[in-house]
Amino acid sequence: MSNVNRRDFLKLSGTSLIGMTLGGVTLRASAQEQVKLDDPTAKALQYTHESAIEGQACSNCMHIQGDAADWRPCALFPGKLVNNNGWCAAWSKKP
Ligand code: SF4
Repeated sequence: MSNVNRRDFLKLSGTSLIGMTLGGVTLRASAQEQVKLDDPTAKALQYTHESAIEGQACSNCMHIQGDAADWRPCALFPGKLVNNNGWCAAWSKKP
């Protein structure tokens, strides 16, 4: 590879990398917004960030997804994150 070609290649690689990184961040931000209490689905399901029922929380609900983290995706709230300590009327024990 000549010097010129290598320089062009590196420039191209750097540009692609930045593009991919920015794309990833945008995707992350739009797909991982914490659910708001005034969200229509949250209201309908009486979702709360802090469960008032002992032994029932998003962390042990069958609809929770993803790895153990404070905020995780839930099958009932597509594109949103629910609190591990949260709760809603659709709670169902994880089998
Ligand atoms: S269905 Fe309700 S209780 Fe279960 S994880 Fe989702 S928000 Fe939490």
